[in-house]
Amino acid sequence: MVIESRWTVPIPNCSLQKWVFESSFGPLPETPQFIDPDRPETHVITKSGYRLWSKRFALGLIRAGLKPGDRVLLYSGNNIFFPAVFMGVLMAGGIFSGANPSFVARELAYQLKDSGATFLIASDASMEIAVDAAAQAGLPTSRIFSFDATALDARPGTARLGSRHWTSLLASEDEGAKFDWIEPADASTTLCALNYSSGTTGVPKGVEITHYAYVANGIGVNYIDRLNPEFDEKKKRARRIGFLPMYHAYGQTYFICNYPRENFPVYIMPAFNFEKMLQVIEKFRIDFIIAVPPIIVLLAKSPLSRKYDLSSLETIGCGAAPLGAEVSDEVEKLWPPGAVAVRQGWGMTEATCGVTSTDPTRVGKPADVGEMSPNCKMRLMKIDGSGEITSANEPGELWVAGPMLLKAYWKKPEATAATVHVDPDGTRWLKTGDIGYVEEYGPGGLIHVIDRIKELIKVKGNQVAPAELEGVLLENKGVRDVAVVGVTINGEEYPRAYVVPVPEAKQTEQEIAKWMEPRVVYYKRLRGGVKFVEAIPKNPSGKLLRKVLRDQAAKEVGDR
Ligand code: AMP
Repeated sequence: MVIESRWTVPIPNCSLQKWVFESSFGPLPETPQFIDPDRPETHVITKSGYRLWSKRFALGLIRAGLKPGDRVLLYSGNNIFFPAVFMGVLMAGGIFSGANPSFVARELAYQLKDSGATFLIASDASMEIAVDAAAQAGLPTSRIFSFDATALDARPGTARLGSRHWTSLLASEDEGAKFDWIEPADASTTLCALNYSSGTTGVPKGVEITHYAYVANGIGVNYIDRLNPEFDEKKKRARRIGFLPMYHAYGQTYFICNYPRENFPVYIMPAFNFEKMLQVIEKFRIDFIIAVPPIIVLLAKSPLSRKYDLSSLETIGCGAAPLGAEVSDEVEKLWPPGAVAVRQGWGMTEATCGVTSTDPTRVGKPADVGEMSPNCKMRLMKIDGSGEITSANEPGELWVAGPMLLKAYWKKPEATAATVHVDPDGTRWLKTGDIGYVEEYGPGGLIHVIDRIKELIKVKGNQVAPAELEGVLLENKGVRDVAVVGVTINGEEYPRAYVVPVPEAKQTEQEIAKWMEPRVVYYKRLRGGVKFVEAIPKNPSGKLLRKVLRDQAAKEVGDR
């Protein structure tokens, strides 16, 4: 049986830029859209300016040779120009891909090669890594553009290592104003983003998101907010803060699209910093934050939370990883009863962003992740593969369908076929690899996500693909075989490696963990430890038995 959403909302078959700005021309609010909280007087982009910067960049990209469907990779932390680069790529008919700004060269080179990006825009501070990665991927230096957080001050020519500054690509204001963006012939098949995710198994893959899917996601999110009977009043107080990374679907969808569509100003932070976040909330009277569980834990536990005036906050959205009900209750107690609500959502890069929502008129019960978002539906499948679950409170794998589903994995038809189940009537179901149950079987049933059967490990909301770490570890001459699994230590998940050493190897378990450090971005480090074993448990056909190792890890070093 299918659990439908209670809400059906029409979705226009238009580009994402059209949904956000409505038209290439005509008036738009001159009110602040993106603000640098450290320089709020001077470093501000208005809604109208957002479109103009994007159009200038789009025209520049086209003149520099970008063709429809070409990929542009942005390797940078957040800054007030990040959204204009994203939108500029779309307006030029291109496909945006964002990389974690802390990636090491190997990780960036992988994404460059896999996506086949022909432009790399990289923050000035990471230019050496960008140049190294581009060399590995065969991208000429002439296609690397430096991008920094002070683009308003920077002038072409300030870029390092022979690359040009991204502003050298910009068309003039006048030309940009006259430029009509490229509107896709069919937004439901035209890609706008390749967001990287390992999905249920294997290495990170490019997730093809269409304009239509992106618009459907935004429409659903904004529709839910508007269910609040006080929405019009609240709208006047709307001031948002953007510290989640915009290379990931979560920050990307909200800060670049959903908030600008509503003209909600966003104070952009380059990266997360807890005290800085509190200062920005206090100083600019932020009303709503979107966060991940470790941030909620900090809010609940840190004495700093009581040092700042957080009385402007009304809502805390949380997603990307499980959030305990106790933490959620604890954080709400920082405010008078009923003043602040924690609203959980659950989602996946393969579904553009979120697939569940919490009705703002509903009171309490923060342990669930809400109900199916507008236009979405869900099926629950038995974990042993023996069929469908049709009763409340029985856990199974969550399958979801809806207009925000990925089109495919980029150039990986087998991975797509393994992840998307197609019914005879053509309905496409994303097999999420998450385990959950529904409280009441039917529309509006509240969903609980309780476990994962997929390989994916999430470290503070960031994806870590065991298959990728295993590939790196096998490059170590002392490693004969290896398996990586996630283990939860003090409420946080970390990767832990089980290694079969080559007999004559001299490295210790700790030395292997250390060897790994410079080879991966910090959150992929083996903080769950390395353990030598005689053999990796496998089934007779050689398939790795991760569950056995996960249970072993939990017993050895985990919370349970
Ligand atoms: P990503 O594609 O990076 O957004 O990761 C998606 C995965 O994060 C999901 O499939 C879940 O395993 C996990 N996840 C996201 N939101 C939640 C949530 N609210 N509760 C539990 N797990 C979550």
